[in-house]
Amino acid sequence: MTQPTNALAHADYPPAQTVEDFTANLAAVQHRIAQACERAGRDAGSVRLLPVSKTVDAARVRLSYEAGIRYLGENKVQEAYSKWEALSDLPDLRWSVIGHLQTNKAKLVARFASEFQALDSLRVAEELDRRLQAEGRALDVFVQINTSGEASKYGLAPEDAAAFVQALPAFQSLRVKGLMTLALFASDAARVRPCFVRLRELRDTLRQTAPAGIDLAELSMGMSGDFELAIEEGATVVRVGQAIYGSRALPDSHYWPATGKPEN
Ligand SMILES: *Cc1c(COP(=O)(O)O)cnc(C)c1O
Repeated sequence: MTQPTNALAHADYPPAQTVEDFTANLAAVQHRIAQACERAGRDAGSVRLLPVSKTVDAARVRLSYEAGIRYLGENKVQEAYSKWEALSDLPDLRWSVIGHLQTNKAKLVARFASEFQALDSLRVAEELDRRLQAEGRALDVFVQINTSGEASKYGLAPEDAAAFVQALPAFQSLRVKGLMTLALFASDAARVRPCFVRLRELRDTLRQTAPAGIDLAELSMGMSGDFELAIEEGATVVRVGQAIYGSRALPDSHYWPATGKPEN
């Protein structure tokens, strides 16, 4: 095994404008995933890359599809829904909603999404389940946990997760896959890593009492700047935007302000 990651690179990523750019960026990210897996003694096939296309217009998303992307993460429902409509000629392109959901938008998610990674309230679970049954659809879901303790992050407090998971079998259209978190934004791995450790340890604890049919095999954690660390700590899904599409014009503080929760 080689050295674990200590300093996190918050690199400046040039925007991908061609299919070739996307092919190269995907290869670079897959290479980073493979190296992190090797350090951790894990099989590279045990980590799924979920490309995140928020703020990227439908035309560039189409180029990324041509480079092989078939599953996309989006944090805003309305934005994702618009792209789903614009790209409806690509039936094998699937969508994962990875941002906070208000109950009044559950109807849209039930219509087009294959996965929802930010479940943190029973009201949303109930509304999604009701809408999914009306659509005759099911949805893969991840329970979002706030592992950093920051007020700006959504997600359940770790101590509330066990009771929450016990309630989930009531929602038959929701296929519970695991847990999701956003780590602290910091360039010091020593402050970021504990968030990932916390999610894995919580998952291991929850598994001992989880109801039948609730498997919690998946851990969705890690983004462009910190996914190697997350893989070292057990991530099975990494959500990567900027390292594939290019740096976003707006800083992360726009999406996760330091004070209060962002509106979605
Ligand atoms: C934007 C976003 C990501 C990806 O972040 P990048 O810095 O673009 O890799 C991951 N998870 C969530 C919830 C996001 O909103």
